[in-house]
Amino acid sequence: MNTFLDRVGSPELDWIQVEVTSRCNAACIYCPQPFLGHNQHMSFGLFKNLLPYLGYTDLVYLQGWGEPLLNPDLFSMIRACKAKGKRVGFTTNGMLLTDETICRIVDLETDIISISLAGATPATHDRIRKGTDLVKIIENIEYMQQIKAKKKARLPEVHFSYLMLASNLNELQETVGLAKRLGVEQIVGSHLTWILNNSLLPEALFNLEEEQQRFSDILEATAAEAKKENLTFAFNSPVLQKQAAHCTENVCRSCVVSVNGDVGPCVFTSSTLLQDNRQPLVHVFQNSLEPCYPLSFGNIAHESLTRIWEKKAYHQFRNLHDPEMTIPGNPSQLPQSCRSCCKKEV
Ligand code: SF4
Ligand code: SF4
Repeated sequence: MNTFLDRVGSPELDWIQVEVTSRCNAACIYCPQPFLGHNQHMSFGLFKNLLPYLGYTDLVYLQGWGEPLLNPDLFSMIRACKAKGKRVGFTTNGMLLTDETICRIVDLETDIISISLAGATPATHDRIRKGTDLVKIIENIEYMQQIKAKKKARLPEVHFSYLMLASNLNELQETVGLAKRLGVEQIVGSHLTWILNNSLLPEALFNLEEEQQRFSDILEATAAEAKKENLTFAFNSPVLQKQAAHCTENVCRSCVVSVNGDVGPCVFTSSTLLQDNRQPLVHVFQNSLEPCYPLSFGNIAHESLTRIWEKKAYHQFRNLHDPEMTIPGNPSQLPQSCRSCCKKEV
């Protein structure tokens, strides 16, 4: 039965991220996806439960731990959100951009498509993003731009999402020229913040003191080149301190819906990060292995998004992360997953 709360409105969100699948056709060396117990698509039926509660949401981003283009209902989801007047985007590894999928993306006026990169040369990118092929990805982007031109379509905006690692940092600057050539409008540099095992520690740039000078030089040079080419280059800077308080992931004005319908603050607390035996995956934080416990405030299969967002426990959680609270939250009250997370600021 719909309650008053369900009927009165929707949460005011900058974006809502929806994990439309936890399956993938790639096996990137840093990604927990191959270890997930979940290996499923979100059904369109479950997705539709969100639609009445998107009234004050700006952007619906169809992304989690998986490749969205594998979900056969992806285009129905995009269409349903566009019918509600929402901006829609997703990130893809770029391998499934065929004639058919590109035409559907363009015809639905999908707003943003972000292509994941981990290098500007095939040798580097393909070594890190196993199962993908940079040459093919570039061909696919060129093809998408041709189709857009043929259809006189402005959308989707194409972005690059570049994972900055110690071993590919020297190719970051090259992505600016590549972006320019391919009509990519924005490059977002992200860090390896979820470190799957000790062998990946030497790749986590923000964790390596000796890399800081090289890192800031390259960031500066990349930003200058992007500016010259009239492209946007954005990046984040995680910290590795347990006493850090506020999350930098905009958790007070966004949420993530996991593939099974659970609603939480971010992909790092997604219930998808459970193994087959239902044990949480672990990651490296401050040189020790920390479990990543799921955090869910409700499930859209049997509760409205509004009701979940307004729960007392969810309010309390957001207050702990709200930089505008006059009395800052006590970091010791944070959930375990937040305490061992690099996505916080001091
Ligand atoms: S394409 Fe994305 S979801 Fe798939 S393995 Fe790579 S990082 Fe993980
Ligand atoms: S600090 Fe907490 S809410 Fe923020 S990204 Fe990390 S685990 Fe998620």
